[in-house]
Amino acid sequence: MAALEKRSGKELQELDRNHYLHPFTDHKSLHKKKSRIITRGEGVYIFDADGNKILDGMSGLWCVNAGYGREELIEAATRQMRELPYYNSFFQCANPPSIELAKLLQEVSPAQMNHVFFAGSGSESNDTIVRMVRRYWDLMGQPKRHTIISRKNGYHGSTVAGASLSGMKAMHEQGGLPIPGIVHVEQPYWFGSDHTLSPDEFGLVAARSIEVKIKELGADKVAAFIGEPIQGAGGVIIPPDSYWPEVQRICDQYGILLISDEVITGFGRLGEWFGADYFGTRPDFMPFAKGVTSGYLPLGGVLISDRVAEVIIDKGGEFFHGYTYSGHPTTCAVATANIRLLQREKLVERVKNDIGPYVQAGWAKLAEHPLVGETRMVGLMGAFELVADKKSLQRFDGKVGAGTVCRDFLVNGGVIMRAVGDTIIAAPPFVLTHSEADEMLEKAWKGLDLTQKALQ
Ligand SMILES: *Cc1c(COP(=O)(O)O)cnc(C)c1O
Repeated sequence: MAALEKRSGKELQELDRNHYLHPFTDHKSLHKKKSRIITRGEGVYIFDADGNKILDGMSGLWCVNAGYGREELIEAATRQMRELPYYNSFFQCANPPSIELAKLLQEVSPAQMNHVFFAGSGSESNDTIVRMVRRYWDLMGQPKRHTIISRKNGYHGSTVAGASLSGMKAMHEQGGLPIPGIVHVEQPYWFGSDHTLSPDEFGLVAARSIEVKIKELGADKVAAFIGEPIQGAGGVIIPPDSYWPEVQRICDQYGILLISDEVITGFGRLGEWFGADYFGTRPDFMPFAKGVTSGYLPLGGVLISDRVAEVIIDKGGEFFHGYTYSGHPTTCAVATANIRLLQREKLVERVKNDIGPYVQAGWAKLAEHPLVGETRMVGLMGAFELVADKKSLQRFDGKVGAGTVCRDFLVNGGVIMRAVGDTIIAAPPFVLTHSEADEMLEKAWKGLDLTQKALQ
């Protein structure tokens, strides 16, 4: 069998530096440090070219929920590649794995979701949504309804549409974004506020910033609202309980489509199949990706509610949109195997009733550390906030880079977590055992101690 050339870590770093432009990376500073080459994964651990074994507290990038090395997924890909590695779903064709997956998605998703459109990633899924939302309102005879309301510090991908929907200032500044017809309102980030309101009062104000925007634009111009049930890349921002019911009320009242971006929260991350199940919302669109295949192959898609699907199907004629890899048989076969694995091993229930509560209890104890101003976690998606002063919740001066300092101690100490500013976030695989959870939490505490020493 033809294998990759065996190269030393050093050699790989050299080639990486010379030829490889990474996503979301400052290459000048990377080249000073050299990249960490990950060579292998097993269970909840990854291994790097220097021989380090690291507990993956981020499930790759929020996706390897079933853990590394799952034979069922490898088998499913191998079997399908032998049978039919690729065929398209254009020109009135389909293939068994994509049909099978469409049916399975209907079974695990909310009742109003009976149709799916396949894409290759979360960003592509949101590109599809921008087009489909506008198409829907055109077909409904309301062509002026083109504006999509999103949130500051939301994350919906990195393509032109995805980055426009995202509310990241740094992304918008590079490339003249957002595109027309996408506007941003407040995020429900209570810890980041001045704490003069209670969390529930604050949640209502954040939700009502959508209503303020609707009135400003005119309801007849607003097509949809998009939000992540819990903001992931923005720093695992768990909205106050008051938030989502109020958002749902506003969408209902003004006849606006609700898009629940389930790219992270879909397939069990919160202990329910979807974030919409957890928060009790009734979305019209649910983009998904990441956990649908546990990251083993790239697949995204959009679950579409009946009221939208009926219009697209009955009134539309041809919708001039689709991707070469829409309904890719191999990625769909792996997704089906992954969902069946989640079902068979009851991993969603495990997040809800077993490992979720177990990690949450340990995570909450991190709040006793002098550097930690708040901890929060739902299912297996959590964050803690680093503060310079625990009493007043005063944050560090941005120049200190406390989050990055802490993140580096964590990773060098053998656990992957991520820094978003001075917020440290984690999202471990669903197969994490209790003793692995203990290890993760001990390493988090140790990382905090080292950070405290370094910042003194
Ligand atoms: C990661 C992510 C995306 C983008 O997905 P890609 O597969 O990276 O394009 C979109 N929405 C959310 C909520 C995400 O976390």
